[in-house]
Amino acid sequence: MMTGIKNMKIFDMHADMGTNFYERHLKQEKDVFKTYHKENLLKGNIKGVFTACFFCGTEDWSYMQEMIINCSKEIRANEDILRQIKTKEDLIEDNKISALISVEGMCGIKDNVEEKIEWMYENGVRVASLVWNESNALADGWKQDPNRGLSKDGIRAVHKMNELKMIIDVSHINEKGFWDIIKYSKKPIIATHSNSRSLCDHGRNLSDKQLLAIKENGGLIGLNACGHFIDKDRNKEDSYHLAKHAKYMADLIGVEHIACGFDYMDFLVGDYDDEMAIDMSNASYSQNLIKALKELGFNELEIRKIAYENVFNFLKREL
Ligand SMILES: [Zn+2]
Repeated sequence: MMTGIKNMKIFDMHADMGTNFYERHLKQEKDVFKTYHKENLLKGNIKGVFTACFFCGTEDWSYMQEMIINCSKEIRANEDILRQIKTKEDLIEDNKISALISVEGMCGIKDNVEEKIEWMYENGVRVASLVWNESNALADGWKQDPNRGLSKDGIRAVHKMNELKMIIDVSHINEKGFWDIIKYSKKPIIATHSNSRSLCDHGRNLSDKQLLAIKENGGLIGLNACGHFIDKDRNKEDSYHLAKHAKYMADLIGVEHIACGFDYMDFLVGDYDDEMAIDMSNASYSQNLIKALKELGFNELEIRKIAYENVFNFLKREL
């Protein structure tokens, strides 16, 4: 069946859903996916999503384990709608939504690096970043020491992840760590939710040099719909200006390396309403980006790649 340009299916590489499932389960809430997520995903035609388990830097290993296990359980409890992606064979295009467990920040890993990454893999994690904004045993986030790259354990983590085919996410890491990962990783990497620093000068966005390195490495960059990564001017924090990042990156490194990683915050506990793009406050508005890509002159084939196919094909190759 042809899907029209008006309602194109999307693969979102970053949604902090694992964290949302966990925080709501701690409050004894039931049916979290169906209550808070299902409708928005369906409205936005999100057909694939990385359900991120997010750790800010203070959590210990057992906390990480609990959130990851809980995320698996919630996906399994919704098997009528979701299909967990663990191998390339799981990538099937039907009516279900693909759900891949990702980890944002490995602060809980302070020793036995290989063993713990293996545990993550056995429990379904297929994409992970070494660090969030903090400094941890493996690496430093973008806000931390610019002179500290990967630690010895950080390098071991990269090797172990390569061996297991767990994909390395470089969103949030500082530049020195980024270049270490480029150096040590034998596999393509992804920046699940980062934009272009040339268009919006923010430490979370990627420089042209970094974008070119990801192209060279065969990786992907996910367009982030958080306002402050789109533009410094609040009036320009919208889907149109996010599409401009796609245009800039496409001109620099080619459309094959661009994907989506919206980072919707509506379901995080707290008030994040003004953090998102004006017309992309949650997953139900995701098609606004499709419209904006069209306005900026991308053709249907290119939009399909950015929206869905680049991620799907990347996972088919790399898992
Ligand atoms: Zn993030």
